[in-house]
Amino acid sequence: MLKKELIPSEKKIWLSSPTMHGEEMTFIKEAYDSNWMSTVGKNLDEVERIISEKVGCRNAVALSSGTASLHLSVRLAGERLYGTHPAEKGSLSGHKVFCSDMTFDATVNPVAYEGGEAVFIDSEYDSWNMDPAALEQAFSVYPDVKLIVLAHLYGTPGKIDEIRSIAKKHGALIVEDAAESFGAGYKEKQTGSFGDYNVISFNGNKIITGSSGGMFLSDSEEDAKRVRKWSTQSRENAPWYQHEELGYNYRMSNVVAGVIRGQLLHLEEHIADKKGIYFRYKEAFKDLPVKMNPIDSAVCSPNYWLSCLIIDQEAMCPQVRGEKEALYTPEEGKSCPTEILSALSGINAEGRPIWKPMHSQPVYRMNPFFTRYGSGRALSNAYIAGGEKGADGLPSDISMDIFNRGLCLPSDNKMTEEEQNKVIETVKACFE
Ligand SMILES: *Cc1c(COP(=O)(O)O)cnc(C)c1O
Repeated sequence: MLKKELIPSEKKIWLSSPTMHGEEMTFIKEAYDSNWMSTVGKNLDEVERIISEKVGCRNAVALSSGTASLHLSVRLAGERLYGTHPAEKGSLSGHKVFCSDMTFDATVNPVAYEGGEAVFIDSEYDSWNMDPAALEQAFSVYPDVKLIVLAHLYGTPGKIDEIRSIAKKHGALIVEDAAESFGAGYKEKQTGSFGDYNVISFNGNKIITGSSGGMFLSDSEEDAKRVRKWSTQSRENAPWYQHEELGYNYRMSNVVAGVIRGQLLHLEEHIADKKGIYFRYKEAFKDLPVKMNPIDSAVCSPNYWLSCLIIDQEAMCPQVRGEKEALYTPEEGKSCPTEILSALSGINAEGRPIWKPMHSQPVYRMNPFFTRYGSGRALSNAYIAGGEKGADGLPSDISMDIFNRGLCLPSDNKMTEEEQNKVIETVKACFE
């Protein structure tokens, strides 16, 4: 099979790299041969049709990236909530938006693009996603907020029912960032179908890729039409370039759509490969003082995009992280993400720290942050310094705790069992 031959075993073991199969070339060539090399064509039509059906959302618009899809989603939400604004101010101008704290910054940057202010909501330990209790705390301080941006980390759906019911109670809209979770289900439905506006990404390291690309999904046909128009510089139906509102160059190319069309044939296979990787790790680590990223299989079926582990607090050796470097002190029987990541890179395997929480990013240092206890800014700083605990004995700032103790393991589809065994032995050796 082609995908096994691509990486000889002595080469690098990747975190998650593109896995091609052959059909991608057929669809790229179809675009080339028919000369539909730009932003119109059969690959685009097919990819939109297939994904809208798969996710269970009535309309899908193929865009240049997940970030572009998030940007147009928050602009739509802002205009629906607050009306149209002058372009230089943005549709969320002066308004707060509740956002997942432990995520990739593409989830939250679009709020700033539209002039809004992200308010970060802490994570919970059950799925590592937005904590409904922290969201309630945020609403109790800012009851007028009308928009929530919710991400599903590492392919595991968050507490969607709880968050949707809080949103409903407060009349808030939801942008669902399913960039990492395409193909993951929650109670019989697919992620990417729960928000008012939903986003998938086809970036190079996602569960399937187009080399780049994103998808906007919504049940509203009118919203889909607006996104389609905005994505092609908001051209009006006129003989010349006529523009009545601000536009973007955000449309996907038919060539990229060809890659995705080929990859879609292998989505379930990719998920099965990743699931195999996750459970091999889980079994191999059962006697170590670590846990895998949590999955509640009673409510969801993740796409297992990345396998992660979290070290038990008692088994952590001392570790200090500055803004750009990390130090640790090795201790017998103990380890830390810094030691494991460096051991992995020693065998040419790529791991990664957990996504560093947004509230701890210098670019967002002034934005509010909420934990299940309320405003988390003071607690968060105390925790970084000394390990502040909440009344329930758990760290008060959960996303920072997961960042401190967790890491992403090599999760590449093309990793052989032999290569994964090397990774496993390397991790185990860190605890000797
Ligand atoms: C990858 C990713 C995005 C952005 O998608 P791009 O296609 O890279 O722009 C957004 N949110 C999350 C959670 C992601 O992992």
